[in-house]
Amino acid sequence: MNGAALVCAAAGERYGADEPRWRGDSGELLDLEWTPAFFPERIRQRSPNLWRYREAIPVREDRNIVSFGEGFTPLFPATLAGQKILIKLDHLFPTGSYKDRGATVLISKARELGIRAVVQDSSGNAGVSIACYSALAGIRCEIFVPASTSPAKLVQIRHAGATLREIPGSREDTARAARKRAEEVYYASHCWNPFFHHGTKTFAFELWEQLSWRAPGTIILPAGNGTLVLGTWIGFRELMEAGFLDRMPVIVAVQASACAPLAAAFLQPSAHTLPAIELHPTAAEGIAIAEPVRWKGIVQAVRETGGIVQTVEEAEILGALRETGAMGLCIEPTAAAAVAGAKKYLAQNDAVGPVVTVVTGHGLKSPEKLLPHP
Ligand SMILES: *Cc1c(COP(=O)(O)O)cnc(C)c1O
Repeated sequence: MNGAALVCAAAGERYGADEPRWRGDSGELLDLEWTPAFFPERIRQRSPNLWRYREAIPVREDRNIVSFGEGFTPLFPATLAGQKILIKLDHLFPTGSYKDRGATVLISKARELGIRAVVQDSSGNAGVSIACYSALAGIRCEIFVPASTSPAKLVQIRHAGATLREIPGSREDTARAARKRAEEVYYASHCWNPFFHHGTKTFAFELWEQLSWRAPGTIILPAGNGTLVLGTWIGFRELMEAGFLDRMPVIVAVQASACAPLAAAFLQPSAHTLPAIELHPTAAEGIAIAEPVRWKGIVQAVRETGGIVQTVEEAEILGALRETGAMGLCIEPTAAAAVAGAKKYLAQNDAVGPVVTVVTGHGLKSPEKLLPHP
């Protein structure tokens, strides 16, 4: 952690990594600058959870770690669209979604900073993760969600003892309400707070180890606010810079056509503002984000690795939900969107192997949306 800093690329500001802030004085995004280390022989001997990459996670003292022993999820071989691929089972996290990767690191850092209360806004799963890890840490927690969020996710947040604020209107109305509250309480935002991305990056480390210390050729991921896309990009960059890899995997981001601002931005390389899009209802509630704050970084990561933003229609999402259900995988519709994207990308492109996709959320998060088989 020596020499670690929070840096604002847009305004050129720098702050200490132990300042409890989530944006620069200019109001712009911050990234964490620091040097991780990797010791494969130590990693191999540790417990099978994401803290095995200890020297690459920016929390200073072990006693501050807030953990259920999460991570190191299975990499499951399957056949999709006639091609062999690997599916990382990230619906098997303690709270039922991969967001626990970010929450365990962000809440550990909050404990290290002596923070007593946090606020967060979410379309559901990030709120669940922050609520559960705050409960474990003994930190007070307030979660803002759109009133339309799946009931099971609301129950999970309340069950963990967090204060739940249901906001009428869009996901952006919820974000505005939370940012107002964040003037008084530490903002544990998975979109703004860079420590969250330094948790989601463990997705990359696990793939690297599970593929015998190599990178996949192509990784197909769902994208709303892009925390998994950005985390994966950061993780593989860190492995490259540490000399453990000599190329980046192709990163493909999947969005529902019903809400696809990143796809629009990807098609307009010179755009300086996020293109306005038409919004339609989608079963993939976890990626229905009209204004992802880190959109430039997400599109750049995808473009730089030779990937694309793949869109999928509602019928394709429901088709993938049915197909994974028939395989015995119980996942939520948002997770099925990535599987649908993987099928479509593989059908239309000559993908570099090995190809990896992920299932990000458990089906019991939204049982009312799961389908009976025909
Ligand atoms: C949050 C979430 C996503 C998308 O993550 P982003 O960080 O918004 O890109 C995908 N699937 C599930 C189940 C989620 O909860």
